[in-house]
Amino acid sequence: MDQLLKILGDIVVSKMAEAAPSLYDTAVHFRPINEYGVRPVRHALLKPANVVQKFRAHLFRNDFLCGCLDFTQDLNIEYLVAGLGYKSGKTTIVKEVIYTTGNAEAVNFTPQMLKAIDEHYASDHKAEVILFHNHPKSWIGHCFDNTPIASDQDRAVMLQWKARSDHLARLLSNGGRFLFFVGENGYVNHINTLSVAQFFQMLRELQ
Ligand SMILES: [Zn+2]
Repeated sequence: MDQLLKILGDIVVSKMAEAAPSLYDTAVHFRPINEYGVRPVRHALLKPANVVQKFRAHLFRNDFLCGCLDFTQDLNIEYLVAGLGYKSGKTTIVKEVIYTTGNAEAVNFTPQMLKAIDEHYASDHKAEVILFHNHPKSWIGHCFDNTPIASDQDRAVMLQWKARSDHLARLLSNGGRFLFFVGENGYVNHINTLSVAQFFQMLRELQ
């Protein structure tokens, strides 16, 4: 019994350590107008994976994210969706999309996606990439009305994109960025916080 309690305790502590940075992520607030994105995103995500699909009319960032959430929220596998667009003031104008699918626990970038993202990002100073993936409903989602909890692995991937030298250079000159979003339990969060482990690692490196 002691052993069981210890194992349960470890699970709760590790889940809390994963959930803690989520408090500092930013929730995306949708408005009814963003439902404009539902149809075109659904249309594109029903087409073959790993191929760039062009939207007939461009979508603003929250329209695109609303479409991604609507399409994926009841699925039991993860989708990774990259919106290819251009920074425009505080929003992104999304013109194309490429996606791939994973399983119930994970989804990974494919070579075709990486190539499309790299080519797009290199094409223009304002080129911006919206990276969205969903988490299928879990036991936490069934018990609590929680907003998305990015895993430590999600945050490691986010940091890899953000730490690219071409991305850092663009940040300093108001160029397009890589933006990372997770959909879960009917909500979308903009993931922009390090994991607890990454945070302590950075502190150690500063010393
Ligand atoms: Zn994830």
